[in-house]
Amino acid sequence: MDRKKKLETTKKIALVAHDNQKQALLDWASQNRAKLSKHKLFGTGTTGRMVQEKLGLEVHCFNSGPLGGDQQIGAKIVDGDIDLLIFFWDPLAAQPHDPDVKALLRIAVLKNIPTACNRSTADFIFSSMLIDSEYEKVEPDYSSELRKK
Ligand code: PGA
Repeated sequence: MDRKKKLETTKKIALVAHDNQKQALLDWASQNRAKLSKHKLFGTGTTGRMVQEKLGLEVHCFNSGPLGGDQQIGAKIVDGDIDLLIFFWDPLAAQPHDPDVKALLRIAVLKNIPTACNRSTADFIFSSMLIDSEYEKVEPDYSSELRKK
């Protein structure tokens, strides 16, 4: 049976940007600073520190992405400790940690995490009234799918 998970008004938001996308993330975060400051922020090492330093927001920083940070965020998602993912990945450059990128995106879909991979999606998510209200998220039950295999 599908599970329900209540997201609080204060969301736990993970921020990740590949190097060529860091400025785009910073620009977006700067435009949304007031809204972001109401939530609990997490990030991969370099992205998180950059948001901390440039915008003065508190961010819990994991390892840098290529050093396992994407996997740490993925594990947090599995544990139900991240509500929303802003992940500006680079569509034009292969990354040394491409398998981790894929794993993070996969687990985000599996756990029905709102995920923005570009600026306009992030804008749509942040202009939704759900960003600042409680939300009951459905987590699909895949157990019958797995039993068929
Ligand atoms: P970084 O990691 O924020 O440490 O640069 C991002 C990534 O490449 O996943």
